[in-house]
Amino acid sequence: MSEPTAVDVLAFGAHPDDVELWCGGTVCTLTRSGYAVGVVDLTQGELGSRGSASLRQQEAEKASRVMSIASRTNLEIPDGDIRNTIENRNRVISAIRASRPRIMLVGAPVCRHPDHAAATELVTNAAFYAGLSKVETRDAGGASQEPFRPDHILHYMQALSFEPTFVVDVSAVWETRMKAIRAYGSQFFNPDYVAREAEPETFVSTDAFLQWIEARARSLGYPIGAAFGEGLLYRNGPVGISDLMTVLARQRPHK
Ligand SMILES: [Zn+2]
Repeated sequence: MSEPTAVDVLAFGAHPDDVELWCGGTVCTLTRSGYAVGVVDLTQGELGSRGSASLRQQEAEKASRVMSIASRTNLEIPDGDIRNTIENRNRVISAIRASRPRIMLVGAPVCRHPDHAAATELVTNAAFYAGLSKVETRDAGGASQEPFRPDHILHYMQALSFEPTFVVDVSAVWETRMKAIRAYGSQFFNPDYVAREAEPETFVSTDAFLQWIEARARSLGYPIGAAFGEGLLYRNGPVGISDLMTVLARQRPHK
């Protein structure tokens, strides 16, 4: 784990592994193109039915190396108790102001896991308040931080699907993206993982779950002419374009 540094894109997850699992392909396409991407995990995932907080931290560090992440910070908000309080908001604001990203990747607005929707509310609120000069925060060294608000917020798709604004072609980074997911050996299907004690099967721990992740990426990719795609929702309404011909020239012809 490290202090946040200036990045182009900052991705937030409620738990270590959310970024890898739900928008890892998008992150890998960005780092492959030379953009600096930071990750902020809100909690340590200590309520997870499998593994432990320390194991998940090691797994997060391994996954960060796979995805060439510039910095990764854990805000240590209690797992299962992600509240939109001033204290929690200021932790997020401090990370945003230290990272100064143009774009933020945030979880889905609605999800089966209550922590995910709570994280989205907390982070999007913080992104707004981070731009207010009278909201005072300090960096890790105690220095007062300048106000900053990201230009754009994109929601990544989690367990519940939505109609995306964009589908990112992640075909070229698919293997890297899956390697980052498999770095979380305690959480996802991994025949080599040996639990210290009997651990229950979870929504995400079976081979069938990873097959579903792949199936959905294939399903999103096919209409755009890609082997694999990831769906993103632009938070603030429609996305404007000026050159219709250029945009559609890249789109798979539907005829
Ligand atoms: Zn999660």
